[in-house]
Amino acid sequence: MLASWLVQEIGRLGLAVDQIVPAGGVRRFAPDVGSVTLLAIATPEIHASFLRGVAGLQGVRAVVPRDAGGFVAHTDRGGVTLHVESPEHAGAALVWHTGSRGHVGLLQARALTFGLAFEGGRLLDTNGRPVPCVSEEALYARLSLPVIQPELRHGGDELALADEGQLPDLLTGRDIRGDLHMHTTWSDGRDTLATMVLTARTLGYEYVAITDHSERATSSRTLSRRDVARQRAEIDALRDRVDDIAILHGVEVDIMPDGTLDFDDTVLSGFDIVLASLHDDAGHDPGRLLERYEAALRHPLVSVITHPANRSPARFPGYALDYDRLFEAAAATGTALEVDGAPGHLDMDGALARRASDAGVTLAVNSDCHRADALARQMRFGIGTARRGLVRREAVLNARPLEDVQAFVAAKRAGRTAAPQVPR
Ligand SMILES: [Zn+2]
Ligand SMILES: [Zn+2]
Repeated sequence: MLASWLVQEIGRLGLAVDQIVPAGGVRRFAPDVGSVTLLAIATPEIHASFLRGVAGLQGVRAVVPRDAGGFVAHTDRGGVTLHVESPEHAGAALVWHTGSRGHVGLLQARALTFGLAFEGGRLLDTNGRPVPCVSEEALYARLSLPVIQPELRHGGDELALADEGQLPDLLTGRDIRGDLHMHTTWSDGRDTLATMVLTARTLGYEYVAITDHSERATSSRTLSRRDVARQRAEIDALRDRVDDIAILHGVEVDIMPDGTLDFDDTVLSGFDIVLASLHDDAGHDPGRLLERYEAALRHPLVSVITHPANRSPARFPGYALDYDRLFEAAAATGTALEVDGAPGHLDMDGALARRASDAGVTLAVNSDCHRADALARQMRFGIGTARRGLVRREAVLNARPLEDVQAFVAAKRAGRTAAPQVPR
């Protein structure tokens, strides 16, 4: 990632910079991050030498001033906007540069009601003198607010929720007990099953599900039905070697154009968990796509629908489905819907995740990883996306112990509708 690379390079300069933090959409886990913004906290004396240092870095072609007091570092990997602020105004600057524009607008309006102004990254008193805000907490406190988490800074109802004391206790990385969606060399993953499991183990997970693509999926490589037993044997052998992480044998089965699943029930019932997905639209309109989903949701062996909108932030906004009906069916059938952390998906996005969880749907927050070295990062993206949707840990399947995940799967298989989670 461009931001972390530059932070690392700047760190090597050994300048007396207190902190360099990503701001902007990156910090908010916005799905459509157009540009990278960094904020450096440094005493005024260091500002000039900081910028000279950045300009001299290998890979940085130029550092040019921009309006609003920032600088753009043009690097071999793209442009990064840099802001430098003194420690006494660091909190106000971090809120300002993190955005969103809508959120900052809400804070500006609120500042006026306190006889203050929030302009140009600083809080100002009635005489236009800057009011020191060393931390974000200090800035929000001056406006009589608790810190609003970056993922919630949409410019929507976040201040109203804060005033009502209704900001939820958001899902965090510590809540995640396992990852229920990843691919291996058995389908289109880059790493072996063992590498994926052993890497997941280093992340402290209690369980993982290996979920390769079913035979007729549109991905480059898929798991053929004759390989299912061989894959299971490999998992069994690995279970003998590794006893501190549970390995679920799962699959990401394609929902076919007629709503049936790519593997038959005999094959599917051998898996510990079945995820189902649409990977293309087969030329269907939203009504037909919903029917395909509803058929999969009714299927007792399907426990999770992955990346339900099938969105791709850069290319495709997602299916124009009747999501309320999808959520109703998911809640009623005891099927979880996914928040997929792959950068190519981030699906459901925050807004849909919020609606789903409000409708009582259980969510699964997964990496959908195809390479071991991205397992942690993609899970972070999934969590950040879920947090944008105000998702609480109680709504998240893989924030539960393994027994509860197994019970969730078993309840649907047995035709018992799992108790819907209580809407907030
Ligand atoms: Zn998929
Ligand atoms: Zn997948």
